[in-house]
Amino acid sequence: MIVELISVGTEILLGNIVNTNAAYLAEQCASLGLSCYYQTVVGDNVDRLTETLQTALERSDIVILGGGLGPTQDDLTKEVTARVLGLNLVKDAHTEERIREYLEARGFTVTENNWKQALAPEGAIIVDNENGTAPGLIIEKGDKRVILLPGPPNELRPMFEKDIYPYLDKLQPGVIYSKTVKVCGVGESIAETMIQDLIEKQTNPTIATYAKTGEVHLRVTAKAEDEKEARKLVKPMVKELKGRFGNSIYTTDTEVTLEKAIVDLLEANHLTVATAESCTGGLLSARIINVPGASEVFKAGYVSYSNKTKRKLFGVKRSSLEKHGAVSSTVAKEMAKGAAMLSKADVTVSVTGIAGPDGGSAEKPVGLVYIGCQVRGEVVIKEYHFKGNRNKIREASVSAALSLMRECILQYCSNVMFSN
Ligand code: ATP
Ligand code: MG
Repeated sequence: MIVELISVGTEILLGNIVNTNAAYLAEQCASLGLSCYYQTVVGDNVDRLTETLQTALERSDIVILGGGLGPTQDDLTKEVTARVLGLNLVKDAHTEERIREYLEARGFTVTENNWKQALAPEGAIIVDNENGTAPGLIIEKGDKRVILLPGPPNELRPMFEKDIYPYLDKLQPGVIYSKTVKVCGVGESIAETMIQDLIEKQTNPTIATYAKTGEVHLRVTAKAEDEKEARKLVKPMVKELKGRFGNSIYTTDTEVTLEKAIVDLLEANHLTVATAESCTGGLLSARIINVPGASEVFKAGYVSYSNKTKRKLFGVKRSSLEKHGAVSSTVAKEMAKGAAMLSKADVTVSVTGIAGPDGGSAEKPVGLVYIGCQVRGEVVIKEYHFKGNRNKIREASVSAALSLMRECILQYCSNVMFSN
């Protein structure tokens, strides 16, 4: 089945907000096995929205519209949709009650224009909004489906997950099952080359690669009559990927992040961790501490930005700073060792680099980052050259630090096992 997305809002056209809803919906539709051939952004304008919707209905089976379901004058998605489909708008008593309850529970008074949100095209399936007043709407007309969703992502996403996803899933025969293989420390193009042959001959299951900062996610999706059958199709492909990517795979669980995998790894091996950060300014420790249960393994996060603090806190040598500069493998090593002395953590990770936009030179360009990882006395230092703006470089540094950490811990654990 073909699905088409229409994002409604002048704010999106002007670039005032980023169209994250479209990215989210497209990814969800792909995981449902729906083909998405067109995505459009259209402003809050009756004529242009009418034309966009009519065109979409000619070429797609399902049209999903996001935004413009609010109570104000410029919100016109529902009105236009009803007109295009030749349906009257009728008051929905259930929605009226929900809006009253929702607003009163929050101490708001209901204004006249709120009742506009209780109108629905006749025969529409009403989808309750648990995080706002505008309900979602599903309209079935002949063999076409039109789905209207509220614009705010914190309303659209939960509603899609809870009600729209299962609805779309049921429209198609058979079931879709997918498993995500998450890889770290391997670049996207290398990862794609490693599975080029699999991608070329893919039919069922299919493999899709998603590049994340410092990570690549490989989603294996199969379609079959029932879930058991679909799982059977996915299993050998996941096994094949495990064979090719080996230790670079940190999980095959959708819910598990890289930092969660590391916290679990540390905990399982009774190891503690501390960070010594310069250019990432606490981002690395924040990623680790975001994981519930990090307190079991996380001892301390130090941010040392100036040279003086690097000396005072970590005992980085004045001569190292003078000879090699703060962004150097020597200083990364001394920071990692210093953090170990201070915190008594088993694993310490240091980051020092040039995030820009200033501070680069021919010899040490913006994006040059050194990351050190110390595990019980053994230190590994790696040099990286990241691209992008300050934020991108800092985020890439954090992801690389996590990957290096994982690699060093795994290495340490296998050495321990080997020597026992
Ligand atoms: P409201 O009741 O808040 O008016 P609405 O359904 O009418 O909701 P819009 O007015 O189109 O939706 O958008 C409301 C807000 O939702 C926007 O200001 C923006 O923050 C967010 N939003 C809308 N569309 C998108 C989108 N495509 N991607 C990301 N955020 C969006
Ligand atoms: Mg609005």
